[in-house]
Amino acid sequence: MGELNLILTGPPGAGKGTQASLLAERRGIAQISTGEMLREAVDSGSDLGRRVEVVMARGELVGDELVIDLVRERLGRADARSGFILDGFPRTEQQADALDRILSELGRDPVRVLALCVPEAELIRRILARGEGRADDDARTVQKRLEVYRISTEPVLAYYGGAVVRIDGAGSVEEIRLRIGQALG
Ligand code: AMP
Repeated sequence: MGELNLILTGPPGAGKGTQASLLAERRGIAQISTGEMLREAVDSGSDLGRRVEVVMARGELVGDELVIDLVRERLGRADARSGFILDGFPRTEQQADALDRILSELGRDPVRVLALCVPEAELIRRILARGEGRADDDARTVQKRLEVYRISTEPVLAYYGGAVVRIDGAGSVEEIRLRIGQALG
């Protein structure tokens, strides 16, 4: 069997983190979450972490170069060799471009793209209810994150064009998990 190289994209609150973690465990592939990696950088209290914290707290995107470097390093590690699921990356066309280059440099198979689709009112409800204590989960920052998604990240779907598999992201964690399983075959 070939590598299972996946991108799980979708707006904030669509359930990317939850579904990526379930998939990674079931299929034995690496979960690569740039949001988690950045939160770790913030928690480390480094200079870089402090700068990242300000950007994240505003609901804006961290610079492409930094995130691309994180992903390049992570994809090069041994545990990503049999497959990976990227959750929260690429969020811009520049990141999508860079990912193509990284995968070809590493001699890896191309990615398959899954997009979770959820109506905006449901996204806001979920985020405000999730209570993970994330600093960027307040009502104002959520609006900003949704706007950033529409402006910067939605174009990434056009970048991948017809290769994107859209999945209905409404319903329970289990319902969505089954739909993703069906889509992957
Ligand atoms: P997430 O956990 O995926 O919702 O990401 C939380 C925050 O981390 C985002 O609102 C951004 O500030 C930052 N972030 C995560 N992934 C990226 C990325 N690929 N590019 C730029 N910023 C990112």
